[in-house]
Amino acid sequence: MLPIGWLLEAGPGYCPIALKKAGQPASAGSSMAGPWDVVLRDEAALRQAAVVAMDAALLEGVLMRTDAEPNASEVVSCAPFTLLPSAVPRALFEQAYAVQRDFNLLVDAISRDKEFLERTLASTIKVDEFTARLFRIHQQVLEEGLAQSVFLGINRSDYMFDCGAASPPALKQIEINTIAASFGGLASRTAAVHGRVLRVLGKPEEAARLLPNDPAQGLAMGIAKAWELYGSPSAAVMFLVEEAQRNIFDQRCVENKLWDRNIRVIRRRFRDVYEQGSLDDSRRLYVGGQEVAVVYYREGYVPSNYDQQNWEARLLLERSRAVKCPDIATQLAGTKKVQQELSRPGMLEKLLPGHAEAVRRIRATFAGLYSLDVGEEGDRIAATAIANPERFVLKPQREGGGNNLYGEELKQVLERIKDSPERTSYILMDKIEPQPAVNYLLRARSPLKASKCISELGIFGVYVRQGTELVLNEAAGHLLRTKAVEHADGGVVAGVAVLDTPYLV
Ligand code: ADP
Ligand code: MG
Repeated sequence: MLPIGWLLEAGPGYCPIALKKAGQPASAGSSMAGPWDVVLRDEAALRQAAVVAMDAALLEGVLMRTDAEPNASEVVSCAPFTLLPSAVPRALFEQAYAVQRDFNLLVDAISRDKEFLERTLASTIKVDEFTARLFRIHQQVLEEGLAQSVFLGINRSDYMFDCGAASPPALKQIEINTIAASFGGLASRTAAVHGRVLRVLGKPEEAARLLPNDPAQGLAMGIAKAWELYGSPSAAVMFLVEEAQRNIFDQRCVENKLWDRNIRVIRRRFRDVYEQGSLDDSRRLYVGGQEVAVVYYREGYVPSNYDQQNWEARLLLERSRAVKCPDIATQLAGTKKVQQELSRPGMLEKLLPGHAEAVRRIRATFAGLYSLDVGEEGDRIAATAIANPERFVLKPQREGGGNNLYGEELKQVLERIKDSPERTSYILMDKIEPQPAVNYLLRARSPLKASKCISELGIFGVYVRQGTELVLNEAAGHLLRTKAVEHADGGVVAGVAVLDTPYLV
């Protein structure tokens, strides 16, 4: 029997999910791949369950707009998801929750450390025009002096369970997303779907053990807090959204919780801000005559989100008094280059003085990360990676999935750029090797077939700072995404990963 663990339950106060000790041992499934071994042998039952699952997903609101019509809701589809919840080691799940507030502190500290960002990104911005452009806006708003005094961070720290060198598996951070971290809304709907599936498959006890999860509630609570501290009851929260809005239902989950608190929400694109945005004398932001208290970006994290007008709109937003989630410094804190620098000895200690325990918890989640800056250190690791490409991932400063390089491709690219400054726009990372498990990935109009899968766990973090005082710092829920092992890279929107629910073992 496993030791008595911690169960997540809805709790009072700010945190929608409080860590609460439960008297229930986790019994089912003692190995990572194991809990559904018997269920997986009955294909007829699985086919029936898949039909139930699709209907349950639609009923619960696990929805996406279609590729063909991303801006209309007349015909929608279920978001892709797994038929069965995936086994997640309880200890690693708890570890991921326990370190989230530390990561919130860290991201906030980095965003306030002008010198650190300058030093860390110096080599990157010479070769990466997108990061350079963000950095210039960052410098420009600091030179003018910040009008913003309330800060809101919503991030998601993503992990895999590494079975490579370590036994038992170890929690290793893939990255932390500090802008437009998505699926907090839909993630709060998947447990109900998987609970239904398990009951249909004759597993009611296992169904009852699935954890409640409501990141949307935590995200909305953070936004509401920032809105309140901004202190203008008639001002709105503005979701800055993409041109093509396939994932609108995920956003609506957060948006609706704000309306429930009688907070006005408007949805605008960069283009709308360019055409209708202005600042008054005290740099209050108005869009189409509506004052905006909080700008919540669900866009703006990849170069394709910007043309010249959109860059101007971004600058206007950053110069304003409105609470940006995230402000541009916090977006920069989420770059892969920053992640790599954090792993240098002594760096966390410098950024979080007096937080030795937090530093220890954070560092325990780091995989090997390596700078490709020009110099001996970079030469050495580039040569090692070219000789052993299967051990590494090559990452550019990009978000959104599908940008990283692996294996033969990694080798070829690195051979091509190893003697050029271009290599400094990348970082190298040890490849994480999770233990695969069999599952079925359900997608609209796709045949049902079993896949060998690996999962990535994300924990949402929310914090609010007023001036120098942190007034809220919470873990706000989780997201599990699962993909077939043959895909090295890519997220849900990229069409590779699907939504999942952790089943703690
Ligand atoms: P993005 O900003 O594009 O999401 P990530 O760093 O999250 O970039 O990488 C995208 C995907 O690539 C991840 O979701 C994961 O599936 C895979 N990946 C990233 N880093 C690693 C790694 N070190 N080992 C194994 N897989 C990785
Ligand atoms: Mg990612």
